[in-house]
Amino acid sequence: MAKPITIKDVKIILTQPAGSRLVIVKVITSEPGLYGLGCATFTQRFHAVVAAIERHLKPFAIGRDVSRIEEFWQMAHVHSYWLNGPVLNNAISGIDQALWDIKGKLANMPVYDLLGGKCREGAAVYRHAGGPTPEAVLESVQKFIDQGVHHIRVQMGGYGGKADSLPKPEGAPDGAYYNPREYARRQLKMIDYVRSHVGDDIELLHDVHERLQPIDAVRFAKDLEPYNLFFLEDLLAPEHINWFRDVRNHCTTRLSMGELFNSPLEWKAVVEEHLIDYIRMHVSQMGGITPARAVALFANIYGVHTAWHGPGDTSPIGHAANVHLDLWAPNFGIQEWCGFPEHVYEMFPGLPELRNGYLYPSDKPGLGIDIDETLAAKYPVTDTIEKWTQTRWPDGTPWTP
Ligand code: MG
Repeated sequence: MAKPITIKDVKIILTQPAGSRLVIVKVITSEPGLYGLGCATFTQRFHAVVAAIERHLKPFAIGRDVSRIEEFWQMAHVHSYWLNGPVLNNAISGIDQALWDIKGKLANMPVYDLLGGKCREGAAVYRHAGGPTPEAVLESVQKFIDQGVHHIRVQMGGYGGKADSLPKPEGAPDGAYYNPREYARRQLKMIDYVRSHVGDDIELLHDVHERLQPIDAVRFAKDLEPYNLFFLEDLLAPEHINWFRDVRNHCTTRLSMGELFNSPLEWKAVVEEHLIDYIRMHVSQMGGITPARAVALFANIYGVHTAWHGPGDTSPIGHAANVHLDLWAPNFGIQEWCGFPEHVYEMFPGLPELRNGYLYPSDKPGLGIDIDETLAAKYPVTDTIEKWTQTRWPDGTPWTP
């Protein structure tokens, strides 16, 4: 038997080319020149992920056979005894995705082929339109329509709606203030306005970002029923998922959920009880391609489609992983796509390309994407205390961002 190719080193590349701090893992193998890349980006707590990899996972991984992805994932998952959580899952994802990349390079196949082959040629995406007024949102929607995009998420004033001029108490601390009930009323008017102008053929989406109290979330989904959204995203926080039963009892608004999930205990019931229509977890936050493949196949049995989280704080490597899953999954639904500026395409050669509303990975083996480390070093990460996740109601009460 030939000697196995093993993990020789695990390197972390930190870079911040476009707002978000990105954590990229490079797994170097015993085979000269053969390496893989993975996304371990948890932008708000990136130092913790770096430590989890450097101090715990790297010593555990070195010397292991690169071909045994499943065994690596299962053992890395249980090895800490206490499981799950965004720090540990992202750390595992960095190596997991890199191992899929390596396996693809060894097999001379793109990852979608390793997974079982393509079910479709390109992944339909949804883009983010927004603005401070209904008119401005419509203008932003029209720009995407002109680019050939068919699915458009509409937000007015960001996630919380109007943040300024709220009646706060004396001595109110800093924060991202919003009024949840006013938010719901204003978004409803905006969606009515946009729908009346674009007609029924453009698919509209909206992201609540868990910013409503559960009973108001039920009402909001019901009020939106006439507008026939492609889906309403993250209507409830993970701790309130039982309320999805009430939403289902009151309306047929299509629902998607999942970017905050990281444990099977959180997402299993909503799929089994068909309480949602789209599962949209963050692939690195659940531990990489290995668990995402399992989630997709599980959801497929219950008629639930995939819509993996695709924000700016997923690295280009993570987006490539998303697209390979998208082309393969029998139950792919839609892919969120934030878009990247030109210099990020230079830094990550092979970054998936968007054409007429569809995303295409490069046809190179593995994840088909690389990183120019010299360029990445030109954009060092910064330490800042995040403002937008300090979400508060008008009286200062902290709420989920
Ligand atoms: Mg979202």
